[in-house]
Amino acid sequence: AAKAAGKTCVRVHADTVDSATGRRTRLVRDLPEALAHGELQLAYQPVAGIEQRAVLGVEALIRWEHPTLGAVLPHEFVGLAEEDGMIVPLQRWVLEQATRDLAGWLAEGRDLQLGVNISVRHLQAGCLVEDVEAALERASLPARRLMVELTESMLLDDNERTRAEVARLRATGCVISLDDFGRGSSSFGHLAGSPVDVIKMDRAFTAGVDTDPRRAVVVQGVVDIGRRLGIDVVGGGVETADQLAALRAIGCLFVQGWLIGRPVPAAELPAMLDGFDPAVLDGAPVRTVDG
Ligand code: C2E
Ligand code: MG
Ligand code: MG
Repeated sequence: AAKAAGKTCVRVHADTVDSATGRRTRLVRDLPEALAHGELQLAYQPVAGIEQRAVLGVEALIRWEHPTLGAVLPHEFVGLAEEDGMIVPLQRWVLEQATRDLAGWLAEGRDLQLGVNISVRHLQAGCLVEDVEAALERASLPARRLMVELTESMLLDDNERTRAEVARLRATGCVISLDDFGRGSSSFGHLAGSPVDVIKMDRAFTAGVDTDPRRAVVVQGVVDIGRRLGIDVVGGGVETADQLAALRAIGCLFVQGWLIGRPVPAAELPAMLDGFDPAVLDGAPVRTVDG
């Protein structure tokens, strides 16, 4: 019986490995076609300013609706695209599509900034700056409308070329944002020498800001350092009114998260913006007149 069980176990394990590699192989194989045939979409998530009491920008987040596998998360296929050399065409598509969408919203009289996530591989490929400039030019957008979201490993890369690319990117006039701050081993020391305009605190940092006093002190530290260095700090992953109230009390002036708005398809963004209720930024539960 033990032997049979062992055998079954091995078989199940082998099947799992097979299906995992099968899925990867399949995704890698299907990605170029997905790109060519419009299976990739961008969702947009609002970023709000507490002082302005308004949505100030949107972050473009890539989505893949695979015809048979269904929704595939960016965490899964962006990494595959990076390994496979598909990342540059993929990022080019993101830049083109997102800048085109933004140009449309600006033409409707909306005042928004656009955040785009960048892959380190695109930076290392050496054509990111040209691709950014080409997308901006095609959409007739000034560079300051675009915020490029980089991660700490890109900004702190000892590699001379990577550093030079980031400097070149900043020289275009784009806003440079340090994404995922607080996830992994983010370091305050590094901020002194980093060419960043914005820090996006990860959900790992903002979750607990309302319940854990020690966490709140650390977040306060990020916000204070940001203010002194002239860096805007965005609290990311804000899900509750209590979290928002805590961030507000700390002096964090910019927020993003499900409480403010979930990522939505481009076509749904205008309605979301028109229906945005600034009371959500007060950080208290929205009450009815008699509530
Ligand atoms: P990110 O740039 O840190 O984006 C934030 C992620 O958190 C998004 O996940 C977003 O949907 C999710 N999120 C936002 N607010 C909340 C919240 O209140 N609660 C929770 N639980 N989650 C929230 P998503 O869309 O799955 O994207 C994951 C990551 O994939 C992104 O993390 C980014 O690093 C990467 N990514 C997305 N689009 C692109 C792209 O076009 N290019 C590249 N290179 N990477 C991308
Ligand atoms: Mg991001
Ligand atoms: Mg993040």
